[in-house]
Amino acid sequence: MDSKSGRNHEDGESATTIEEKIVKTNGEVAMRRYSKGRFLGKGGFARVYEFSNLETRKVTAAKIVPKESLQKSRAKQKLMSEIKIHRALHHPNIVGFEHFFEDNENVYILLELCSNQTMNELLRRRKRLTELEVQCYILQCISAMRYLQSHKVIHRDLKLGNLFLSDKMEIKIGDFGLAAKLEYDGEKKKTICGTPNYIAPEVLDGKTGHSYEVDIWSLGVITYTLLVGKPPFETSDVKTTYRRIKMNAYSFPDHVPLSESSKSLITRILVNDPAKRPTLDEIVAHEFFHQGYTVPKLLPASTLACPPSVS
Ligand code: ADP
Repeated sequence: MDSKSGRNHEDGESATTIEEKIVKTNGEVAMRRYSKGRFLGKGGFARVYEFSNLETRKVTAAKIVPKESLQKSRAKQKLMSEIKIHRALHHPNIVGFEHFFEDNENVYILLELCSNQTMNELLRRRKRLTELEVQCYILQCISAMRYLQSHKVIHRDLKLGNLFLSDKMEIKIGDFGLAAKLEYDGEKKKTICGTPNYIAPEVLDGKTGHSYEVDIWSLGVITYTLLVGKPPFETSDVKTTYRRIKMNAYSFPDHVPLSESSKSLITRILVNDPAKRPTLDEIVAHEFFHQGYTVPKLLPASTLACPPSVS
């Protein structure tokens, strides 16, 4: 095997070939090599690249986290929790977790490649989506959220940027960096986390604790955002956004034609008392999803740029 590797750079980040050391049960050491390709995006500490396994040619998305950023025990704890929760999840609408490894500089998390970016980029191109598209995407999110609930996992950061699109246009929920796994049903979490526009009021309150209902709230914010083109509580500063969330101050703009059923669903979900929010089953049963036509399982790739044609 070729022993030349791109790891002649000090920094694994700039290397073009990444080596994974594999210690076999008999103590033998083997190397798995990946070529680092296209830059896909960056998050908090991570940079994400396309990786192709030089032997199998399989292409994945590799989240590269510099160990330097993990010096604080909290950061390390968070990454370990993300890996522990995500690697146990297997669902067609959740980004597949392939495996992870480390070298001296970085931790590498190999994930299913979602080649059509996230709903953020989609909405930026399209401005807003049609009701048919929103029905299709939200039903896929709900399928993944049912699975998460059955595994006692709260995602806690559902937002457009964490809804990935595969080459087949399937929704894939990703980024479990803020997720929590409950020990028992009825357990409440207290840590404040989430992303300003999508954060539920009970998380901001911080006193009562929160549970799965925070993800339902975010689903309501996502539905609104996809239909209207901007999040319901968005303002130019975070404090005002939080105040609006606490006061449930949002409205439906006149210039966007929205059906009564879509407004009714959003109004049902964006309720400040988490106990009064609908369950996933109640959302699926809502009239918004039952308009006399069949919602397609998937949308054509042409909808990445243009609305679907009505046949
Ligand atoms: P962080 O958890 O640090 O916020 P993310 O998981 O959100 O990092 O990833 C950062 C960016 O990398 C994403 O916004 C996206 O552009 C890209 N990315 C992440 N995971 C994938 C993936 N599985 N397939 C394609 N691109 C991805």
